[in-house]
This record gives sequence, structure tokens and C-alpha cells, in this order.
Amino acid sequence: MENTYPQTLQRLISALSKLPGIGEKSAGRLALFLLSKPELCEILGDLIKELPFRVKLCKICRNFSEEELCPICKDPTRDQSQLCIVENPLNLLHIERAGIYRGYYYVLHYLLSPKEGFGPRELGLNNLIELIKERSVSEVILALSPTLSGEATSSYIVKTLESLSVRVTKLACGLPMGMEIQFADPITLKRAFQRRETLRECEI
Ligand SMILES: [Zn+2]
Repeated sequence: MENTYPQTLQRLISALSKLPGIGEKSAGRLALFLLSKPELCEILGDLIKELPFRVKLCKICRNFSEEELCPICKDPTRDQSQLCIVENPLNLLHIERAGIYRGYYYVLHYLLSPKEGFGPRELGLNNLIELIKERSVSEVILALSPTLSGEATSSYIVKTLESLSVRVTKLACGLPMGMEIQFADPITLKRAFQRRETLRECEI
């Protein structure tokens, strides 16, 4: 059957269907909706075009930032002795919104997955070690989701930090196995922070 849509519309549908969770049908619906909202098209078009140029990774923690350093890294009132490791900026935002943590963060962006080509380099583990040394961090809190790949990544990080004199803890009870951090409610997350489990004591 011939596709009777104009070429631009067809191309938009094909581009939208490359987004995660959007199949061809949803892409078609979105494209037709956009067609009826010229103002939204303009705003979205501008934002999408600027996105890769404006939003970078913070030089210290790898959180999203429009400047060299993100607002958290620029905030001198936070607790420098704690560094919380999260998988992605979404989880960082989730923890920040829960208002339960006042230390700094480090964002991995990936979990270890040799199959997908995500190794220690992609996770920025060398920079993480430097940061812990520079900041004289006394506790590293692993706040990775208790999924299989989250657990594997946590174990690898504990090993990687073996040579440093730093206490390593991970979020504990309350987070059911398999649950991703971003879906935990603030109370569960708070409990997981409070009852975090020590994986390695600091040996000086
Ligand atoms: Zn930062």
C-alpha cells in the first residue's frame, strides 16, 4: 500500500519512531498532533536543535549542566566528606527532590555491560578515583538500583576503590530487589539512605 503522507511528515514519523518506547503508530499520532500545533513545533524545534550544544556534562560530577560546573558542585555548603554514586541524572534528581542527602554526587551514565561496550572507561571510574582523592572523601555511597547490573557495577566499584582509605556503603533495606531508584518513593528512599549497609570499612 502506498504511503500517501507528504515526505516531510513521513520523515518526521520515521525520526520520532527512533525514540525509546515510541513505535511507528505512536510516532504517527505524535506527528499528526504536532501538525496541529505550529507554535509547539517551533519551540520544540529550537530546543531540540540547541540541546546538544547547550547541555553538557559537569566537569566534576558528570551531571547535566549548561556551565562547566553544575549548581551542586558549585555549592560550597554541601558535605564534602560524602560522595553518592548514581547511575544517571534522573536518579540524582530523584534523590535531590527527596531532600535526604547533602553531599556531592558522581554520575556513571551507564552500568557495566561488556556486551554493550560499557566498561570502566565509559563509567568514568578513573575520574571517580581522582575525585575521591582530591576531595578527601570519607564515605562513598553506592546508590545504584538493586538490579543485576546495578549489583555487578557496585561490586566492581568496591573492588576498584580497594586501594583508597574510604568507607563504602550502599543503599539498603526498603528498596526491593529489582526496583529502579527512580521509582522509589521519597520515604523508601530516605529509609534506604539511613540504613545504608557498609560494604567496606575505611582502613587507614
Ligand atoms: Zn557537578
